[in-house]
Amino acid sequence: MPTRVTVTCPDCEFEAAFSKLRDARECVDDHERDGHDPDWRIDRLTAGVERAGDDAGVCGGDDCNPDSPLLVDRE
Ligand SMILES: [Zn+2]
Repeated sequence: MPTRVTVTCPDCEFEAAFSKLRDARECVDDHERDGHDPDWRIDRLTAGVERAGDDAGVCGGDDCNPDSPLLVDRE
């Protein structure tokens, strides 16, 4: 299941999203080293959002669903 980790730091108004927990953790560590107090939040995409992404061709492959209702109205 795809995971998105959002790191925010009120001390320097930093905000970034990571797809890997490890990258987010390193970012948090960086700010803590600077004496900041960063916060991080893990968001898990719902199955519905995942499917919509596939249907919209986000995957970039040829196996996207051509019958998706999301494609019907696309001109
Ligand atoms: Zn910071």
